[in-house]
Amino acid sequence: MANVITIEDVQTILTQPGRSRLVIVKVVTSEPGLYGLGCATFTQRIHAVAAAIDKHLKPFLIGRDVARVEEIWQMSMVHGYWRNGPVLNNAISGVDQALWDIKGKRAGMPLYDLLGGKSREAAHVYVHADGPDPSAVLERVRGYVAEGYRFVRIQMGGYGGATDRMERPRGAPDGAYFDPRVYQREMLEMMAFVRDGVGADVELLHDVHERLAPIDAVRFAKACEPLGLFFLEDVLAPEDIGWFQRIREQCATPLAMGELFNHPFEWREVIESRWIDFLRMHVSQMGGITPARKVADFAHLYGVRTAWHGPGDTSPVGHAANLHLDIWAPNFGVQEWYRPNEIEYAMFPGLPTVENGYLYPNEAPGLGIDIDERLAAEYPAADIVETWTQTRLPDGSPARP
Ligand code: MG
Repeated sequence: MANVITIEDVQTILTQPGRSRLVIVKVVTSEPGLYGLGCATFTQRIHAVAAAIDKHLKPFLIGRDVARVEEIWQMSMVHGYWRNGPVLNNAISGVDQALWDIKGKRAGMPLYDLLGGKSREAAHVYVHADGPDPSAVLERVRGYVAEGYRFVRIQMGGYGGATDRMERPRGAPDGAYFDPRVYQREMLEMMAFVRDGVGADVELLHDVHERLAPIDAVRFAKACEPLGLFFLEDVLAPEDIGWFQRIREQCATPLAMGELFNHPFEWREVIESRWIDFLRMHVSQMGGITPARKVADFAHLYGVRTAWHGPGDTSPVGHAANLHLDIWAPNFGVQEWYRPNEIEYAMFPGLPTVENGYLYPNEAPGLGIDIDERLAAEYPAADIVETWTQTRLPDGSPARP
């Protein structure tokens, strides 16, 4: 009979080596020295995820066979009866990714080999260029191109917030104010300026961050068509996805969507209807590698490519998971990359590196990433109230960030 290795402990590590607060899960097994790591990072609600893991998932998982990744995922999803929310999906992802890591270590294979093997040697990445005006954005893009990057996301003033010259009603509260009309005009001018400056061969991307009313989103996507974007992201909010059909019927601007998705209903319709071109799910937010690889295969049938969410609030462990999916998936599109700092590289040995615009995996088994827990403890996650997510429209009312 095969040697059964069981889950002996499930540990939650909260740390903040950079701007974002991270949640890492460590699954310790009955085999001495064998453990796995997973990303459970929901940066705005780290303590809710930690409690879900420590108080609910851990007691349910102790003693289970680590080999049964699929069965554990399925049972974890229904065991709480209520399901598909961001807190619980992230908690499940932490365990799921750690179990895949363990499976790879036992097999002596990198995760991409377990998934089916390499479709490519490295993943194209895109990085973020931002600035206060179009010239500053263009300078940033040129700097990245000089470093070898071929895909750059261009923004101005973050997601178009902090418009402090706006008129506000008397008594309007503080916040990240945002004017949809000014945003549309300024972004179209900036994108045309940058395209003109860098020429046709640099892939440019833009993230609307679901800030427009649906009919404005239709008009904005049409106005972007001549710019030849690689993709336009989150031009609609998940609540408005039915409007994608209107955009699709009127222009060929490539569309990306999904970082806020956490329920299969949200990604199923946009894929089956061929309303979008790139899936942007935050892999921990959808529940980990187990659902992500199924969705990648499903999307492949419809000509939809993957572009997993990868800013700084995906942990280095989550980035490693993204990269293994990218290396394997035949329908990989591009990978968002956040340029980790030196502390993150020291805290997470094995964190992938970029060379000439390509992100390379290492050959280590499993996810190929580790954590220095002593160093993680030196950078505790701060307890703060987020301000950038306190977005407001010109009349002072709350808006999506
Ligand atoms: Mg985004």
